[in-house]
Amino acid sequence: MLHLVRTCIGDLLDLLYPRLCAACGCQHPPEGSALCIACQIDLPRTDYHLFRENPLTRRFTGRFALETATSMFYFVKDTPVQDMLHRIKYQGRKEAAWSLGQHYGRELRTSGLYETIDMVVPVPLHPHREHQRGYNQSAWWGRGLSEGLGVESNERGLVRVRKTESQTNKSRQDRLLNTREAFVVRKPSRLKGRHILLVDDVMTTGATLEACALPLLTLPGVRISIATLAVAQD
Ligand SMILES: [Zn+2]
Repeated sequence: MLHLVRTCIGDLLDLLYPRLCAACGCQHPPEGSALCIACQIDLPRTDYHLFRENPLTRRFTGRFALETATSMFYFVKDTPVQDMLHRIKYQGRKEAAWSLGQHYGRELRTSGLYETIDMVVPVPLHPHREHQRGYNQSAWWGRGLSEGLGVESNERGLVRVRKTESQTNKSRQDRLLNTREAFVVRKPSRLKGRHILLVDDVMTTGATLEACALPLLTLPGVRISIATLAVAQD
């Protein structure tokens, strides 16, 4: 009887809130997955996690000391990847970021390049922005990654101390200046000596990740790797 009630409630919830694929919006993602089977196959994967040095790490050459870096998908405009990022960021699909993070965290765990990671730290939103949106999508991606990797998630390790202006229509140099000193480390004793996986939803120039890495790297013994959900190609 209880099972029947649960099934009926489940069916009713599916009817009211169908679990749509986070990328293409179809109604057929398998149980426990944010993406339908077609999107799992078709979305453009980078596979950067299999190579310590890759096109993403090369983009940080000369900027700061980086162990390795990866992104789950390539960001391509006007494709389901862009739709997915939009749903995650603006349409409340934070559980999709979490689920993708769990999945990718398990892949990182077996790649052999992420086994010394012992903490996940997301790029924070300004508290005012987080309050408006109700959540930080990068923190949900990071929470999933930490679970997949089996390590601690430190969602308040960095704090964004002032709101940056819109980043669009700014050069890389201007973006860097715009974000510089916008992030401070909170409770440094918890972070020192750690190999930190710094995570964000999407990387364009890398200026925000750089602005986050620099204060962390002032702490003794800190090493940084990076994992984003998507990366825009040069
Ligand atoms: Zn799909």
